[in-house]
Amino acid sequence: MKIDGYTRVCGVMGCPVEHTMSPAIHNTLAESLGENLVYVPFRVPAGHAGDAVKGAFALNLLGVNVTVPYKSEVIPFLKEIDPLAETIGAVNTLVRTEGGFKGYNTDMPGLYRAMCEDGVEIAGEKVLILGAGGVARAVAILAAEKGAGRIVILNRTQEKAQKIAEEVNLLAGRRLAEAKALEEYASLPAEKYLAIQATNVGMFPKVEKAVIEDAAFYEKIHTGYDLVFNPARTRFMSLVRESGGRAFGGLKMLLYQGIIAYELWTGAEIDSELAGKAYGEMRKAMKIE
Ligand code: NAP
Repeated sequence: MKIDGYTRVCGVMGCPVEHTMSPAIHNTLAESLGENLVYVPFRVPAGHAGDAVKGAFALNLLGVNVTVPYKSEVIPFLKEIDPLAETIGAVNTLVRTEGGFKGYNTDMPGLYRAMCEDGVEIAGEKVLILGAGGVARAVAILAAEKGAGRIVILNRTQEKAQKIAEEVNLLAGRRLAEAKALEEYASLPAEKYLAIQATNVGMFPKVEKAVIEDAAFYEKIHTGYDLVFNPARTRFMSLVRESGGRAFGGLKMLLYQGIIAYELWTGAEIDSELAGKAYGEMRKAMKIE
């Protein structure tokens, strides 16, 4: 691309950032749309998230994605925060406004857009969430907002699952969510669940692992959505499919969180053809056939 005095700069701040796939998404979108915009990684050392936000604004950056470990740490340095990001307590996209950045969370809308594209419904479903970290908490809020019939959160550390269930119930104004320890999975009623895998288990390089190995557990899953995106096909997904369920991975969530950020920065509307092109470039960058 040609960089000149009018080129707008966006990027991702985090630590580490070297593994990021976001440049493949955003630079493909900008090039395809003929936008004079470039997207680069910014490694920010620990303790400097606030400096980075202020510096990015001073340098006239159009927008910034925020990744691990700064999604909550940047919040005090924003001019404004979108209500969804505030509820989730994590910001992954900063949008330039008059006088400062406004923070958004595009991870959950990204997951929802990916699920819609894959034909996965949340409304009325019994939703099983594996994990109780930052992403699992956001998924539980998404599931409540999108009308899940029931939410069960299973986590190795039960207290963390319990805390999320209580927050969700407070938001919903009723007892919608319940928490269980991971090893209690066998006590789940013999029903069919939409299971969302939000632990770190199965991520590269420990790709041979799944958070639960027991085939009997997978009999209860009609659809499994693994948020892990590397590898593209996880052991969890294989176990779901072996028991006759549908399984999806986290790559499309990654794509759509980026697309929604790009739309917020530029006002563009990315159609499915261009989304497909960015998806292809992202897979190439990850060396996925
Ligand atoms: P996090 O806050 O560190 O939470 C990690 C979760 O994994 C906790 O519930 C933890 O249980 C559980 N866990 C870790 N090791 C485990 C083990 N050996 N056995 C059982 N449970 C284990 O992480 P996060 O930020 O929520 O991220 C969670 C996942 O989401 C990651 O895999 C990440 O790649 C994925 N993600 C995907 C996208 C995307 O666009 N597709 C975006 C963001 C994140 P304890 O509470 O007991 O420690």
